[in-house]
Amino acid sequence: MNNPLPQGATIGILGGGQLGRMLSVAASRLGLNTHIFEPGANPPAGQVAQWVTMASYDDGEALRAFAQSVDVITYEFENIPMSALDIIEDICPIHPGRQALAVSQDRLSEKEFLTGLGLKVAPYADVTNAEQADVAVARIGAPSILKTRCMGYDGKGQMRLKQASDMPAAWQAMAGSASVLEGFIDFSHEVSVIAARASDGQVACFDPGENVHRDGILHTTTVPANLTTSQRMDAVLIAAKILNKLNYVGIMGVELFVTADGFIVNEIAPRVHNSGHWTQNGCDICQFEQHIRAVAGWPLGDGVRHSDIRMENLIGDDMDRLPELRKTNAALHLYGKLEVKPGRKMGHVNFRS
Ligand code: AMP
Repeated sequence: MNNPLPQGATIGILGGGQLGRMLSVAASRLGLNTHIFEPGANPPAGQVAQWVTMASYDDGEALRAFAQSVDVITYEFENIPMSALDIIEDICPIHPGRQALAVSQDRLSEKEFLTGLGLKVAPYADVTNAEQADVAVARIGAPSILKTRCMGYDGKGQMRLKQASDMPAAWQAMAGSASVLEGFIDFSHEVSVIAARASDGQVACFDPGENVHRDGILHTTTVPANLTTSQRMDAVLIAAKILNKLNYVGIMGVELFVTADGFIVNEIAPRVHNSGHWTQNGCDICQFEQHIRAVAGWPLGDGVRHSDIRMENLIGDDMDRLPELRKTNAALHLYGKLEVKPGRKMGHVNFRS
């Protein structure tokens, strides 16, 4: 391991949401400082980080000053404009690197990358205009899902097709955004692997978690997932293959569909992941600390799990349950967001069994 960051060094984090907040808390436990770069006012991470720059991603001067003030840069979301990366990359190392961002920003590149590795993905077709939409649905069929190639998250930017004749309306709803049509996978359940890779190539994966979504948003993650020992091994090997190919440094979330014919990779996220929040109370070293260790050039923890956990997201009005939850021994993680909005992630709870 070359040049681990010393005590008092500063990690720059692009994005100031709850993931940036929990990364900052982990960094501070390790004696490291954080500096958040975030366009929005009063970011959740700003309440716990040492410094916050509030500026937009096209403010070159602010990006340069930010990059000069930190020792390494990481991010909490994958939609960093490449133009921002061009500026900061010349000044300061950024982990995970450009290739991981490029691959995961665009569903089409992501699927091409994954199939290039010999991994299975849902059948897919590129859709950039109405004619291609017709060709795609003739090839992929229905049921299927039309997804925007870029900027989709939590089920947003997706239209489900029950039958082929739903395509024109679905394409119209995309308002011209380049998309992919994905065949509908008949999966039994969804799992994700939270995997870490250090700068010397060491890989450590957390136990796969089983995910349940509600209205397109992650609702619960349960560990252990319902998987056989060999499935568990396969899932971890898939994640390691992806990380190694990208020469990756940091945490990645790898979402998998479990089918009778094996795993299908749904998507990858080059950052700490909501389905890894259980690690905060299920492992000695959680995903946030593991990510900080990786980007700081420190050795990784082994990721071993000491408890069975069910993580439940607190979304919107779920915050009404707070008075009851406070009376229990469940581990509450609240994001310091004062305004409750429908669909807004306000916190999560880890129930240990
Ligand atoms: P995504 O934004 O791609 O992660 O999709 C959100 C959720 O929609 C997934 O977690 C699945 O539950 C469901 N989904 C996405 N793609 C497919 C697919 N090709 N087949 C079946 N379900 C899917």
